[in-house]
Amino acid sequence: MDNGKSVLSDPEARRFLAEILDEEGLDVVYSLLDREATDEEIAEETGIKINTVRRVLYKLYDYRLASYVRTKDTEIGWYIYTWKLDLKRIYDLIKLRKQRLLEELTRELESMKDRVFFACRKDEKYVPFEEASELQFRCPVCEGVLEYVDSEERMRQLQEEIERLQKELSNGHY
Ligand SMILES: [Zn+2]
Repeated sequence: MDNGKSVLSDPEARRFLAEILDEEGLDVVYSLLDREATDEEIAEETGIKINTVRRVLYKLYDYRLASYVRTKDTEIGWYIYTWKLDLKRIYDLIKLRKQRLLEELTRELESMKDRVFFACRKDEKYVPFEEASELQFRCPVCEGVLEYVDSEERMRQLQEEIERLQKELSNGHY
């Protein structure tokens, strides 16, 4: 059963997990690799509190990175939750995130084309000429003087980032 190990050898996938989980969360993931287990078994084996284990599992479930089967223990009459990972879905999540970022950056780049921008020395807020002139060249954040900024550099950065994302999306695992 491979429901995670191969995924965890990918640095990008590992980074994604580290972003959504803390260290104990990662321990829960590792203890559930390539098998099924109940929340109680995981807690017992890892020494992590049962409530923390459950919180991690439900977080994984929210991302559809884990699923459970509920069965009733006929002796004690309680429900037992047996969990398993589905880490391959990380690739879908990473792809979705990159697509969103790509759209955002493309929009930003488009909105910067053929426009002149102003900014104060302190804040990083770019104000287009029309707006700057209405503000009488005072920064909307700190009221400092708005000066002309060369947006070529920012546009070049955006273009590079866009190209990198497009390349990654066209030859990733996706
Ligand atoms: Zn300012």
